Amino acid sequence: MKTIFDKLNGNCKNSARVSDKVIDLIDKLAKNTNLERDEFLYVLNNITARETGHLYKRAYEVKHIHYQNRVYLRGLIEISNYCKMGCKYCGINYKAQGVERYRLTIEEIVKCCQIGYDLGYRTFVIQSGEDSYYSDKLIIEMLGFIKDKFSDVRITLSLGERSRESYQKLYDAGADRYLLRHETASRRLYEHVHPSFMSFDNRRKCLSNLKEIGYQVGAGFMVGLPTQTNEDLVEDLIYLRELGPEMIGIGPYLCHEDTELKGNESGTLEETLVMVAMARLTLPKALLPATTALGSLHAIGREKALKSGANVMMPNISPTENRAKYEIYQNKICITDASDQCRNCIEARIVGVGHEIDLGVGDYIDFERNEEK
Ligand code: SAM
Repeated sequence: MKTIFDKLNGNCKNSARVSDKVIDLIDKLAKNTNLERDEFLYVLNNITARETGHLYKRAYEVKHIHYQNRVYLRGLIEISNYCKMGCKYCGINYKAQGVERYRLTIEEIVKCCQIGYDLGYRTFVIQSGEDSYYSDKLIIEMLGFIKDKFSDVRITLSLGERSRESYQKLYDAGADRYLLRHETASRRLYEHVHPSFMSFDNRRKCLSNLKEIGYQVGAGFMVGLPTQTNEDLVEDLIYLRELGPEMIGIGPYLCHEDTELKGNESGTLEETLVMVAMARLTLPKALLPATTALGSLHAIGREKALKSGANVMMPNISPTENRAKYEIYQNKICITDASDQCRNCIEARIVGVGHEIDLGVGDYIDFERNEEK
């Protein structure tokens, strides 16, 4: 049973008064005026298919002010599917039985970077399950190799929760950005979809540490998690506004049948697009990916996200033979393609919806690296 976006999911029509109020609140947010908690909630509780077009248009306009129709590309390398964490939604958590585990050597990672570099990518996103094999020493070595070979690139790490000291060392060794979705800003929901050894507070502490150190930080959340409510989603928007991340990853929850949450409904395209658009209006300058999960949910999910405020895409440059093993959710796209096929496919999709690719490093607009820290 759906617990979010009752009206959007129920083919409802609003009275003219309710519809006008939803549109007014969207316009208020688009004018860079913060909404109160109850105003955010009013939008999510009452939005129907009649108002979503207006929301997407406003989000697109706000994106256009800062980024025009440019879409930044990031080459994504999934370096390991070993994970010591137990996220109940994730198909590679430590309990998942049917997973053939792999990890890449530094040499293999640098080879992926070379392929990405030759395809024009100037940001590499290095992501993995929480794999203790990758010590600070090893990652620092990897960062050194990549930065020595490719002096004009940015490196984004997405390796999960680590100590502040570790984040600091990796930053000092050349990491520029760090992606760590907060997953949900609701403590109740966080505790519902994670085991008791995982900590809501530590996840947030990691994000504030990353911010303080000086990384460009990516937070983000899933839409449609089992038992998630509109109130929970409002907390996500408020938390993002407070944290002020440079990047925001928002994707649908996609049910994996080999997890504790098997049998639940997945999030939907429209619910996710509403939250992408609301995030764009809440943090107008954010770098906001059209996520692979949206592309896996719907054939043109990512293109629709670009039309609703997203401005980043993350083509996969992992070795093709490992891609299917990084199955965080089922029916993931791009698992059989070679990296150059992904590059061509993504460019065609971007151009097809009136956008253009930007092969620059694509830093956050106002970002200046603090070299003193
Ligand atoms: N281990 C790192 C971390 O925890 O940040 C990075 C890898 S983790 C697999 C990347 C993201 O995948 C998570 O932040 C989560 O939001 C997303 N994810 C995992 N399982 C998912 C699912 N079933 N549906 C949608 N997204 C999922």
